[in-house]
Amino acid sequence: MLEDLLKAVKTRFNDEDKGNGKSKVSIPSDLLFKCPRCSSVIFMEDFENNQKICPSCGYHARISAQERLKLTIDKGSFVEMDAEMDSVNPISFPGYSEKLSSLRAQTGLRDAILTGECTIRGTRCVIGVMDSRFMMASMGSVVGEKITRAFEYATEKQLPVVMFTASGGARMQEGILSLMQMAKTSAAVARHSQAGLLYIAVMTDPTTGGVMASFASLGDVIIAEPKVLIGFAGRRVIEDTIRQRLPDDFQSAEFMLEHGFVDMIVERSRMRRTLSRILKLHQQS
Ligand SMILES: [Zn+2]
Repeated sequence: MLEDLLKAVKTRFNDEDKGNGKSKVSIPSDLLFKCPRCSSVIFMEDFENNQKICPSCGYHARISAQERLKLTIDKGSFVEMDAEMDSVNPISFPGYSEKLSSLRAQTGLRDAILTGECTIRGTRCVIGVMDSRFMMASMGSVVGEKITRAFEYATEKQLPVVMFTASGGARMQEGILSLMQMAKTSAAVARHSQAGLLYIAVMTDPTTGGVMASFASLGDVIIAEPKVLIGFAGRRVIEDTIRQRLPDDFQSAEFMLEHGFVDMIVERSRMRRTLSRILKLHQQS
């Protein structure tokens, strides 16, 4: 029944749109949300008020870096780092500069990550949030440099780091420079760790490729949102290589938890509280 409602609203909206441009009733196309997992249809406003989690099946939709910050940190506490850092087109990849410009306009971000200092329920920390809307949060020189600097700053100031990871992998448009970021970020994480400081990695959908194979998997505590895709290479590539069928839940957060790669799965609604507890616990030790 709700499917019919969705269709009816869409048809009505489209019909009015095709007319002379003057709609009698304005129905925005994003009025309703249809869950891709269980097909439930709910009002977009309710979905957004529920932190973009489907109330029927618990599906966690991807959210922007700005939304993630809003849900996680204390209001007004964010001081952004390296806000003006921009990527160049180091190997003159065709169309890369144009793609960056259009994504900057669309997302309000300079690149695929926001880093800065903030407080979470009063505890000071350095935070990084990747955003899959920006070239699937692939790691190029800006993403790698911002992460490295965030860890270096945290080491200097003796602060814990919380990193929300999401990525399709290395940014091929920057060639070998993108692969170098794996070693660079890992080295910065190691120096932070050697200083006895806490690093919490929170894997969000999807955390794959060179990001998963570097700083994302180096957290002292590794948290994942439910059903998140975590892996290095894609399922088909692995199946073709080893010539075996993989389990259905392969590369899911739940599979990774079972095999010890992830420490805990935390729902988005409990994330802020959980992070705050771990940060406070570490402060006291
Ligand atoms: Zn659902």
